[in-house]
Amino acid sequence: MDEEPERAKRWEGGYERTWEVLKEDETGSLKASVEDILFQTKRKRVFESHGQVRLGMMRHMFVVIDTSRTMEDQDLKPNRLTSALKLMEYFVEEYFDQNPISQIGIITTKNKRAEKLTDLAGNPKKHISALKKAVDTTCVGEPSLYNALTLAMQTLKHMPGHTSREVLVIFSSLTTCDPANIYELIKTLKGLKIRVSVIGLSAEVRVCTVLTRETGGTYHVILDESHFRELLMYHVKPPPASSTSECSLIRMGFPQHTIASVSDQDSKPSFSMSHLDSSSGPGLTLGGYYCPQCRAKYTELPVECKVCGLTLVSAPHLARSFHHLFPLDAFQESPLDDYEGERFCQGCQGELKDKSVYTCPMCSSVFCVECDLFIHETLHCCPSCIHRQTAP
Ligand SMILES: [Zn+2]
Ligand SMILES: [Zn+2]
Ligand SMILES: [Zn+2]
Repeated sequence: MDEEPERAKRWEGGYERTWEVLKEDETGSLKASVEDILFQTKRKRVFESHGQVRLGMMRHMFVVIDTSRTMEDQDLKPNRLTSALKLMEYFVEEYFDQNPISQIGIITTKNKRAEKLTDLAGNPKKHISALKKAVDTTCVGEPSLYNALTLAMQTLKHMPGHTSREVLVIFSSLTTCDPANIYELIKTLKGLKIRVSVIGLSAEVRVCTVLTRETGGTYHVILDESHFRELLMYHVKPPPASSTSECSLIRMGFPQHTIASVSDQDSKPSFSMSHLDSSSGPGLTLGGYYCPQCRAKYTELPVECKVCGLTLVSAPHLARSFHHLFPLDAFQESPLDDYEGERFCQGCQGELKDKSVYTCPMCSSVFCVECDLFIHETLHCCPSCIHRQTAP
């Protein structure tokens, strides 16, 4: 039984095919051809994310990491667990970069049980340090999909209706040990609008197929480590907000960071509310962010005020989430030879040399490949369109 996933992977030939594509350049280096492959995948991501789909701005996601015995398999180097945790660290960073007012929580499952590694929270540091520690976990027994999903559901069902409720399962085992009928649970998850996606590390498992189909998530099985990373990155972008999801006005506070001046003799260090649930012990600091409503002090943003419940963010956080509501259309790719006009990129003012140029459908400005990627992945708005709007 254990041989099966390994053989299926070889049979699909993920590794072999990537080497066939590689070609040496005149100096005998593989660099150019590898860069070309990387570039193609990047372009693909931009293309898949086009269109005016309203995406959720506030997300609540639980990541379930299988830590059962199969995670000790060494098809990913050095083993599945270490590889998955390393990629998760990267994922958490990217997730908060793209979704600064969202939250994430981590659940692990082994030995027929599920437990929370971290609670649903918005602080990437906490999750990353928990993931770093988890490397020493001993992988034993079977996972329990049922218990892990129930644990996630217990928290997610209380999340407000205008936010997305998501579970992402990194599933390595081919079996799951469930105390009750999982198909009933799937119905409940569907009813609660919890979207479950699965990334399989071995092979397709029927229960996961049903689970993801019913709840509207995605199901992929990895081919190799780079594919694993790519699949994870799909989940960095928020899923489209379902038409039934509620819209609501949310009160937000924008606290300023204030530091008591050193010359002020009366200033005393004070406790921050964010230390309430941290195990690192209380930290006394002079400055911090003060909730505009109740004056509670926090050391980091974004956070939900523990006293009055106000969402506290900084303006850049909100601005960075805003583009999910109005995603930028993909630019039209056309060959450079057909393009008549000045051969300069509107973004970097560099000469257009690549074989294709990219045109903004709104303002017809032309961009080079690099600028196109930068605009869609980082800026999220067309600089020429903005320039036109502000010009008199
Ligand atoms: Zn408050
Ligand atoms: Zn450019
Ligand atoms: Zn434009």
